[in-house]
Amino acid sequence: MSDTLFSQIIRREIPADIVFEDDRALAFRDINPQAPVHVLVIPKQPIAMVAEAQPTDEPLLGHLLWVAAQVAREQGLTNGYRLVINNGADAGQTVFHLHIHVLGGRSLQWPPG
Ligand code: 5GP
Repeated sequence: MSDTLFSQIIRREIPADIVFEDDRALAFRDINPQAPVHVLVIPKQPIAMVAEAQPTDEPLLGHLLWVAAQVAREQGLTNGYRLVINNGADAGQTVFHLHIHVLGGRSLQWPPG
């Protein structure tokens, strides 16, 4: 897949407020937060969207959920939070490097728009 700005964040070519990093994942604050806590969890290995994940990506996908839970805990989201993955145009995906939105710190409405 082609390079995105998230790959540039992984390579530290553009700045980001990083809150978690390990060998497979990076988490950083969204530049346009939709809640008091809005963090993006991304794989270091670029996958454009969840629909393009391969069977061999299954452990990585599970790891990203685990990272999202750690980030939520570290950010103090003890009263609940929402994890969102936008997949493709109809979902409003704008950056084609798979990411999990971790949203919390306020009461969230359902259903989303
Ligand atoms: P999507 O709409 O693809 O699910 O989410 C992409 C997210 O990336 C948006 O919430 C947007 O605010 C965020 N974003 C876009 N560009 C940047 C950037 O340069 N830095 C950071 N930290 N977030 C970004």
